[in-house]
Amino acid sequence: MGKLRGFIEYDRKTEKNIPVYKRLKNFKEFTIKPDDKELEKQGSRCMDCGVPFCHSGCPLGNLIPDFNDAVHRRSWKEALNILHSTNNFPEFTGRLCPAPCESACVLGLVSPPVSIEMIEKYIVERGFSEGWIKANKPKKRTGKKIAVVGSGPAGLAAAQQLNFAGHKVVVYERDEKIGGLLRYGIPDFKLEKSIIDRRVNILIEEGITFITSTEIGKDISINELYKNNDVVLLCGGATIKRDLPIPGFDAVGIIQAMDFLKNQNEIIDNKKTMIPGLNANDKNVIVIGGGDTGSDCIGTSNRQGAKSVVNFEILPKPPKERSLENPWPYWPFTLKSSSSHEEGSNRNWSILTKEFIKDDSGKLTGLKTVKVEWEKSINERPKLIEIEGSEKVWPCDLVLLALGFTGPEKNILQKLKLKMDSSNKPKTNEYKTNDSKVFAAGDIRRGQSLIVWAISEGREAAYKIDEFLMGSSNLPTKTKGDLPLVK
Ligand SMILES: Cc1cc2nc3c(=O)[nH]c(=O)nc-3n(C[C@H](O)[C@H](O)[C@H](O)COP(=O)(O)OP(=O)(O)OC[C@H]3O[C@@H](n4cnc5c(N)ncnc54)[C@H](O)[C@@H]3O)c2cc1C
Ligand code: SF4
Repeated sequence: MGKLRGFIEYDRKTEKNIPVYKRLKNFKEFTIKPDDKELEKQGSRCMDCGVPFCHSGCPLGNLIPDFNDAVHRRSWKEALNILHSTNNFPEFTGRLCPAPCESACVLGLVSPPVSIEMIEKYIVERGFSEGWIKANKPKKRTGKKIAVVGSGPAGLAAAQQLNFAGHKVVVYERDEKIGGLLRYGIPDFKLEKSIIDRRVNILIEEGITFITSTEIGKDISINELYKNNDVVLLCGGATIKRDLPIPGFDAVGIIQAMDFLKNQNEIIDNKKTMIPGLNANDKNVIVIGGGDTGSDCIGTSNRQGAKSVVNFEILPKPPKERSLENPWPYWPFTLKSSSSHEEGSNRNWSILTKEFIKDDSGKLTGLKTVKVEWEKSINERPKLIEIEGSEKVWPCDLVLLALGFTGPEKNILQKLKLKMDSSNKPKTNEYKTNDSKVFAAGDIRRGQSLIVWAISEGREAAYKIDEFLMGSSNLPTKTKGDLPLVK
């Protein structure tokens, strides 16, 4: 497995990026592919550690040492088969996953970990460029019908698995195009939309039907879908945006991050025009929220030509290294800087927005903040304390709220009389709701999460649905007892 002493001979290398001034000129992906020799060396750094933890770090249970070894042996097609055996869409995770596997890599204890995510990306890209990735149609059809509501990564993964099992799958999507947040949330510079189209075309060839611009609960009733199918799988995501209802919230110029990001994605992909209030060009922008969505707003604002971009996060600045309470191989709660942060943003932590300031015409002109501290006591949630005298006014013309999502929409869950938890997520037992014909997977079930989790949930739900319909299932499922290390 791997090359004996490969991890001693070769340093970790990751993809290089084109320079900031060049990449800010457009919304295209900006990474530079390493040559195959370099990728083979990187694969050989996987050190045959005996008890690998990387695949427990991966929510999909990807067979990482095996594909690393295949790449090292230049057996790229074999590597692709290994990768596809656990992951339907490595082209998405290879670009967008925060790679908890790398945080759990045993080599990471003493040296920089194996560049797993990069290797994953170039295995699947090689597969596409060589023409190895082809439609895989089921040999037999079962006659069972499944409706999937929502075409994000959870719905797509479930649809592909259920189609492999021979069921007739129809995916309903209210947006114009397929992909969920992959298409309308995540900017092109992280994932060009042709990458989604390339995969969706294969799914169509495999026999999956996609019905777009159709909202279930509005254009087609959920009861009709329920009546006409053997199973309904809900993969509608968690799309209710969190607000910031403080004084001045009605000022013109306070925009939800998803409205901003969706408009930019639609300009490129759907040839729509810029909605004037959503343009960051020549504006002083403040992005409230320090997560992935906030980072995407920073990258998008800079590409639109913002004058300045400031970022607020209410939590304290994370440490550079793991703390004692956060040991290997768990996900490290350390400072992370994305490529968008690198491109230019003034990041501020432990900061709370108290008020939006507007002029007589109702236009946003600035906001007021206060610094905060987090007081920790045993067995209690950390308490937020405002620091007296730390008030500050920040002039700005555009505020982007990247505060996450509070949960899924209730409409169809209520119509189906599903039991819900306090965040309106359907209560499930092994992906099955209290109605035995209705299943749920992805963000709608677990709350706002990650693409890798959405794919994993879609696969696992498909297994459970197949078992429910047929009595048993030959679809793959994660090894029992394999506990992912990231939530
Ligand atoms: C801006 C942003 C950036 C992100 N970046 C990353 C990242 O870099 N890496 C990462 O791992 N994760 C990232 N995430 C999280 C990730 O995108 C989600 O966890 C993932 O997409 C969830 O997949 P899903 O299939 O459950 O739901 P979604 O992707 O939300 O898809 C749900 C779909 O259901 C459709 N739908 C809902 N209701 C209906 C209905 N009634 N009828 C028809 N269709 C319906 C919606 O239109 C949508 O297309 C990001 C999220 C955001 C918002
Ligand atoms: S999907 Fe994510 S966690 Fe899993 S191997 Fe790929 S990069 Fe690592």
